[in-house]
Order: sequence, then structure tokens, then C-alpha cells
Amino acid sequence: MKYAVYTLGCKVNQYETQALETMLRARGFQPAARDADVVIVNTCAVTAESGRKSRQAIRRLQGQNPGALTVVCGCYSQLEPEDVAALGADIVFGSGDKHALADAIVKALPARSVDDPFKRRVFEPLPAGAVAGRTRAMLKIEDGCDNFCAYCVIPYTRGRVRSLPPEDCAAQAAALAGEGFAEIVITGIEIASYGKDLPGKPGLADAVQAAAQAAPGARIHLGSLEPTVVTEDFCARLAALGNICPHFHLSLQSGCDDTLRRMRRKYDTAAFLAVCQRLRRYFPGCSLTADLICGFPGESKADFAATLAFLETCAFTYVHAFPYSVRPGTAAADMPGQLSRAEKEDRVRRAGQVIARLQAAYLASRVGQVEQVLFENAASGHSAGYCVVRIGGQAERGTVRAVRVTGASDGVLLGELAE
Ligand code: SF4
Repeated sequence: MKYAVYTLGCKVNQYETQALETMLRARGFQPAARDADVVIVNTCAVTAESGRKSRQAIRRLQGQNPGALTVVCGCYSQLEPEDVAALGADIVFGSGDKHALADAIVKALPARSVDDPFKRRVFEPLPAGAVAGRTRAMLKIEDGCDNFCAYCVIPYTRGRVRSLPPEDCAAQAAALAGEGFAEIVITGIEIASYGKDLPGKPGLADAVQAAAQAAPGARIHLGSLEPTVVTEDFCARLAALGNICPHFHLSLQSGCDDTLRRMRRKYDTAAFLAVCQRLRRYFPGCSLTADLICGFPGESKADFAATLAFLETCAFTYVHAFPYSVRPGTAAADMPGQLSRAEKEDRVRRAGQVIARLQAAYLASRVGQVEQVLFENAASGHSAGYCVVRIGGQAERGTVRAVRVTGASDGVLLGELAE
């Protein structure tokens, strides 16, 4: 049996697809670009645009694989199972229970199994890392979110925080390193809340330490972080490990205190800046990236100007800027001061100009440095700071090699092997 799969959205979705593929391959399935017996779309609902792209992907895979069993899972189908069923999906799952999904596919039984995410209490451990063709493995340590930020639909689709115990983080990291992965990405929906559901309430630093010490030969890359978790103790413990990638992706969302408050974020710009400074103290030269929402309801021109100035203050390496998207059922959907699509897109464009300048400045600062590059193909890969690096020579895919940076162009570092 052949399957075709398409994944939208975050690293957790990528991880869960990877795990589902592992389970399917263990059951004798093979991946195929065309003429698949089963098409699987792992959907995203983080913005209205993600929902639209999810529907588009379902229709596209169905068109490319006529007659295939259509399987849809993920956050969009968790939120809108009726819409997904109306598109002709045979199996509709939500964002949980991938083991049962693999079984349902094997049995090829049309099933509808969207559960209530708020009743989920147990972390669902999934296999990861065994799918060929990937150079870095993802280790999902947490699911769910209890924060209910005003704009976000994720807590409604993923349920409450559930965590993988530290000893299991260690075991999975050791297994992934044993499979030869040179980089392990620690991921989850809201990893800063890691452990609040576990006995003894371990924190994120405990999980990262367990994984890093169990896989000393691999480098450990942290997924998106809520800034509130980045304390002195957190930084000191991570820096002492020695195999943490000096790249931190922080969830900023706005650089204006009033907007942050209305977003129901748990920090202000002063606290956020202190986090950036702290990370730079413990990881000199580290790369800091962020997410930014442009055009949140009520964000005035002055608020947005403050945000642009704050991007410069933080000197990010890169910022993922996207327009605010109304998600029905969230607090922000009913807020006054909704901005036009054109205005939101114009703000994204203006943020992009600032981001391009910041990125060029960071890349220029790396010229002359030696970067440890994980090669995704013979000629390019990612540095530990998560910059794309291209070389003139050849390196073996999946290996980490030292590269001397000789220049930077179009958002990419250029260099040559240093050994
Ligand atoms: S922390 Fe906020 S933005 Fe992140 S998943 Fe939770 S509710 Fe959404």
C-alpha cells in the first residue's frame, strides 16, 4: 500500500507526521508522490489562511490521487471536522491519537474520531526519527497549552498541557542519537509550560538537560520558546550542558506593551529585552529569532511603529512576521478595531524591510567566523545558529562540518570547509 502525505503548520505537526509515517512504514506502507492508496493531510488552524491552505491541500492530494482513501488530521480538522468531512475525507481525526489513526488507516475503515481535547490528560508518546530523508530529528516533549492568548485557537484544538517525563525524554534522545541524528529539535506546542502536569513539576530545563546528557554527541536545538521561561537559572543550566544550539526562537508577537496586554501575553517589552540580553550573556553571538503578529485589533500606527523600533532594539537575526488572522471563538475575534487586510499586509511588508536589514547585519557579523554546519545536502546546511550556509565544496549529507564563513548574500552565509 502506498501513501502520500502533506503537512501544514508547526514543527509539532511535522513531528507527528514523521511519527505517523514511521508507524505506517512499520505496517508495510510505502511513500509515493502519485497513485497513492491513501492520502493524508495533517492540517493547521493557527490562522484563517492556514485553514484555507489545509482545504486546498486536501483537494490537491485528492486530485493527484483519484480514488485514494482521504485521511485528514491535525488542528484544522479538530476545529472544523464537518468542513473536512464535506470535502470528502474518509477518516477525520483531530490533533490527538496518532496510534489509533495508523490503525484506522490500516483497516481503511471510514471513521470519525474527533475527541474532546480538554479531556486529554496523558501525553501520547510517538515514535520519531526513523523516517529516511531527514537530517534532524524532532523530539516532542509536550502537547497542549493552557495560556489562551487572545488571538490563538491552539488551546481549543490541542487541549491542556501534557508532558513526556524527563526519563522518557532521555530515552528518546538517546535512541535518536543512536540512529545517527546529529541534531535533535526539542519541540512541543508550548514547551515553556513543560512539566506542570507531571509529579514533582519538573521544568523545561530538566527535560532539555535529560535529553542533552543522554545524547552528548548530538546538538540540541530548542523549538519556539515563551520568553517567561528564560530565567537566569534556565540559561545557566543550558549553557553548562555544552551541546545546546545557540539559536533561540522567542515568541514576541508585539513590541508594544499595550498590545501585548490586550493579547494576554505574560510579559512586557522590558522583560522581553532582559531575556534577549540574558541569552546573549550566556550564549555570546547567539542567534535570536521571533514571531510577530502585525495588525492585531486596535494596534494603532504608533503601536506598530513602537514594535518596529523594538525589533531593532532586540537585534533579531530573523523575525517571522504574519498578519493577524481572525479565529472565531477567540477573545480577539470580537475585539473592536479590526484592521483591513490591506493594512495588515502593509504592516507585514514594512516589518519585512526592518527584518531584512537586521538579518543582513547578523549575517555580516558571522563573516570570518567558523560555523558548525549540519549538511542537508552536499553543498548546503544549517549552522548551529540556524542560518543557511552554502559551500563551494562537498560535504556528506547528515554530518556536521566546520565551515569558515567567507561572505553573506541574499540571506545565506557562504563559506568553505575549515578542515
Ligand atoms: S502560548 Fe498563546 S500563542 Fe502559544 S499556543 Fe498557547 S495560546 Fe497559542
